[in-house]
Amino acid sequence: MAVTTSNAELTRPLCWQDNGSANHECRETMTSAVARRTIEGMAEHTSTPKHVAVVGAGMVGLSTAWFLQEHGVSVTVLDREGVAAGSSWGNAGWLTPGITTPLPEPAVLKYGVRAVLSPSSPVYVPPTANPRLVSFLTRFARNSTARRWERAMQALVPINRRSLAAFDVLGENGVAAPTHEAKSFLAAYRTADERTTLLEEIEQIHRAGQGIEFDVLDGDEARGVEPSLSDEVGAAIRLHDQRFINPGEYVHALADSVSARGGVIRSGVTVDDIVDRGSKVEVDGASYDAVVLATGAWLGNLARRFGVRTLVQAGRGYSFSIPIEHVPSGPVYFPAQRVACTPLGDRLRVAGMMEFRAPDAPLDARRIGAISEAAKPLLRGADLDARQDEWVGARPCTPDGLPLVGATRSPRVYAAGGHGMWGITLGPATGQLLAEQMVTGRVPAELAAFNPLR
Ligand SMILES: Cc1cc2nc3c(=O)[nH]c(=O)nc-3n(C[C@H](O)[C@H](O)[C@H](O)COP(=O)(O)OP(=O)(O)OC[C@H]3O[C@@H](n4cnc5c(N)ncnc54)[C@H](O)[C@@H]3O)c2cc1C
Repeated sequence: MAVTTSNAELTRPLCWQDNGSANHECRETMTSAVARRTIEGMAEHTSTPKHVAVVGAGMVGLSTAWFLQEHGVSVTVLDREGVAAGSSWGNAGWLTPGITTPLPEPAVLKYGVRAVLSPSSPVYVPPTANPRLVSFLTRFARNSTARRWERAMQALVPINRRSLAAFDVLGENGVAAPTHEAKSFLAAYRTADERTTLLEEIEQIHRAGQGIEFDVLDGDEARGVEPSLSDEVGAAIRLHDQRFINPGEYVHALADSVSARGGVIRSGVTVDDIVDRGSKVEVDGASYDAVVLATGAWLGNLARRFGVRTLVQAGRGYSFSIPIEHVPSGPVYFPAQRVACTPLGDRLRVAGMMEFRAPDAPLDARRIGAISEAAKPLLRGADLDARQDEWVGARPCTPDGLPLVGATRSPRVYAAGGHGMWGITLGPATGQLLAEQMVTGRVPAELAAFNPLR
């Protein structure tokens, strides 16, 4: 397949009726625009799908559905529970392309080895890992070298560049939830020594071709910016030009927009099988032109039979919200503790942990306790005992730290997932690029490294 960059002509609505759906004339215009762009490299692409099923109503599935609608495609989204039932609900909601980096890195490996010994460590691997988990961890460890990290980082840079613009397209075209500029975005530490890891990583990010503006602050300067930091904070980095959202609210607004534009969202539908019938594909007893598998940490269950061999492992994280005297004006990150805080209305969401376990295992209260204990001494005026919304969710992690986005062995079955720690930041750009690929048959350059059959 040919690789091409995206085309703005295809990423914006050309003409919409009041109810948000494309009118007939508009559909024709889009179809011919698509046809013009797809003559070259069309060998494997038979026709533009008219009706697509999307399995999974998280950030990635709904973004793909929304951007397919931009091309005049009808969508039906199926979820075994409902909108934002997976990891798209209680996450930290950071839109931080500046630090969207591959998870397998030398420092995580160090945590991983320590973690086997301590259930309160920010990265936890159960001592009785099953063979599948051992296989994932072995591959993950192999990718946790400086050289592989750099290569994976270079692969993320092009999609990172598009991530905030994709949110703007959604915001300007009917997705009612806001994205917030992070007036302050602080990574805070006890000592300047601890800070060197992120400073070095920022340098490596720069070397990979991605810029990020930042200031280096001492403890008092950090408290000047963010009074909710305690006196134990002695050093910080302030990142610029990042954003955040309330992820649950945002994903529901995205679902509302998909519905308002004529999409169907069906909750309580577990998809156990996908039957490829040659020119059509059958999902839950109905026939579609194509299907997108966007089932998060469960991606492998359906994708494996279509040639996707990369393991998608749940990297489970926990969160809760607390009252705090001064709600920060942007995210606060404690990298040494691996704790992420995000203002949500009048409360602060506190999130953390990377627990490599089965995605459906029950919430382990010890992890909530560990996050709470790690954050307590670093926050001022926070009541960590008045926790609400205790939650566990499964990050869909791949061993090489890159998502799986694109066609599988069947040209009618697409994968969209495996974004690990960054499916909120990258969800809309993923949906935008995958929708373009599905209607044109050409792989956008930004997706080239994310081939699900790698
Ligand atoms: C603690 C924590 C903090 C995080 N913070 C951030 C952050 O700040 N920024 C960021 O970018 N990312 C963050 N992430 C990662 C982010 O949450 C995920 O990458 C993202 O939500 C993945 O979205 P998804 O749509 O692929 O999967 P999900 O949101 O998990 O959606 C998958 C959906 O598929 C459905 N499903 C599964 N199997 C089936 C089936 N067989 N049939 C029907 N439906 C099915 C599920 O019910 C679910 O609704 C965080 C994650 C955690 C856990």
